[in-house]
Amino acid sequence: MQCHSDQVVYMDNNATTRIAPEVVEAMMPFLTDCYGNPSSMHTFGGQVGQAVEQARESIARLIGARAEEIVFTSCGTESDSTAILSALQTFPEKRHIVTTRVEHPAVKSLCENLDNLTGHKHRITWLSVDADGTLDLESYRQALSDETAIVSVMWANNETGVLFPVEEMARIAKERGVLFHTDAVQAVGKVPINLGATDIDFLSLSGHKLHAPKGVGVLYVAKGTPFIPFINGGHQEHGRRGGTENVASIVGLGKACELAGANMEEENTRVRALRDKLEAGLLGSVPKSLLNGHAQDRLPNTANISFEYVEGEAILLHMNQHQICASSGSACTSGSLEPSHVLRAMGVPFTAAHGSIRFSLSTYNSEEEIDFVLEKMPAIIAKLRTMSPFWEENE
Ligand code: PLP
Repeated sequence: MQCHSDQVVYMDNNATTRIAPEVVEAMMPFLTDCYGNPSSMHTFGGQVGQAVEQARESIARLIGARAEEIVFTSCGTESDSTAILSALQTFPEKRHIVTTRVEHPAVKSLCENLDNLTGHKHRITWLSVDADGTLDLESYRQALSDETAIVSVMWANNETGVLFPVEEMARIAKERGVLFHTDAVQAVGKVPINLGATDIDFLSLSGHKLHAPKGVGVLYVAKGTPFIPFINGGHQEHGRRGGTENVASIVGLGKACELAGANMEEENTRVRALRDKLEAGLLGSVPKSLLNGHAQDRLPNTANISFEYVEGEAILLHMNQHQICASSGSACTSGSLEPSHVLRAMGVPFTAAHGSIRFSLSTYNSEEEIDFVLEKMPAIIAKLRTMSPFWEENE
């Protein structure tokens, strides 16, 4: 199959990222010659085991953790489930969870389905956000109780890029003796993280959001945190996650973390400048367009913009004709268009939530690509609005 990635303008990096060429290069020996099992006693396997340990150290370095606090998983979703279910099993008498209304489905669906999954009744506090997508810490404080088994709050929102003050929230949880998990799938590699200086007990990350392959993730488990495995099996990961390691992807993730750590500040500055140019250009040239999410407390790569009175899906289809890849904040389910739960939680009006587009950039985007998108978007929106009955009424 040929995908012609050189012909697309890829601005959907919160969905997934290009694997860095350096990462592919680091992985190749483990897809070819170095196929030993890292748990084997012989040197052939032992070498592979060493590569896994090196990757563990590189990942730990990026997030200010110790190597032994890194548990490899298959993805961010598995890491999220593992952390939350571990806390519930550790404290079976505590049936309360605190989370937010804007979590990724990896946490949201799990919390919604916990009663079925565990056979126990749980109480979930869904913290609200304001119009900027930010949290109220006072409500958070009040939500914590002696019944709370775990708090799970994302570090950065995948749709808007809005950052939550998870370090402070973890400190507050610690004071109340409650475990704290953060889904940092969108934050790792884009935000400096030093877990050693925080009270965070669990952190989830995922390879494919930071230029490593799909199908590899990490759960950070702070030293001393009670932990019950989600996947039982062999003695891999010191008994914390059964299953033969996805060695090539783990090595790739290690390399991706080295790259992210080496270039984070300058890449953030460059990507933020591109994002700001795109955002200012779109808001300036398209009438009735607005930014969703806090203007400052946000990932440097994400711009979520609503184009009022048009459908996100229709915008994406027109962008697709110009090979521009992005995401919409609505999902077409069984014939009805459901606006994103994140935008709804922020109180974004329906007419704007339906027409929201998430542009998420990476280190591989160029200024020419920004100019190209800025050239195409106003005409796309204007054309769609000529077909929109709501636009005529509100023009
Ligand atoms: N959490 C967040 C915030 C995400 O953005 C994603 C992926 O989009 C996930 C979790 C799930 O990660 P994975 O695809 O590795 O399961």
